[in-house]
Amino acid sequence: MIEETHIPNRFGRFLLMALEQSLGTPGFQAVLGRAGLRHLAAYPADNLERGFPVNLIPRLMAALEEMYGVGKGRELAFQTGRACFRLGMPGFGFLIDLADLLFPLLPTRTRARIGLETVAEVFNRFADGNIQVQKQGDRLLWVVERCGVCQGRTSSSPCCHLLAGLLQETVQWATGKDSVKVTEVVCAAAGGPRCEMEIELGG
Ligand SMILES: [Zn+2]
Repeated sequence: MIEETHIPNRFGRFLLMALEQSLGTPGFQAVLGRAGLRHLAAYPADNLERGFPVNLIPRLMAALEEMYGVGKGRELAFQTGRACFRLGMPGFGFLIDLADLLFPLLPTRTRARIGLETVAEVFNRFADGNIQVQKQGDRLLWVVERCGVCQGRTSSSPCCHLLAGLLQETVQWATGKDSVKVTEVVCAAAGGPRCEMEIELGG
């Protein structure tokens, strides 16, 4: 059933745009070819219709690692995640307004939590991720029961760098801190029951 999940075309569009930005056009086309997804070079439409199969994401991530090697491939996935947030950001108009008004008054950790919860809400509404943001000591934890980034993959180590990059950019934006660190501590592809990202604010 999970294999049939579709996310809005716009999400797929931003992912592909971000991937092309990170890899350059030749690299992007090579990865699409490797994944057997050459048709995606024509980006999906910019709308919220659920037309983009979520299982294309792990296929793209696997192709990225095959093409560039695991280390470099995951670094590029992380960069792509950061670019996804920057592309999606203008859609969060209300959050930007809120941030301008309120963020200077709030503690860093609260700002980080609001940023993460807003993104979680969008994913829960449009992508059925079943995500929770939890507090854990001085850290925050992003817990996703059905991770669209790694579903169907198996890996000897956590492999959701695309998501880690997106969350890092989110929290960096919300807090204005460069010291933010996101680490995937549990990954479904690496034998975990779900995926969990630990967010340290640092500094
Ligand atoms: Zn994972």
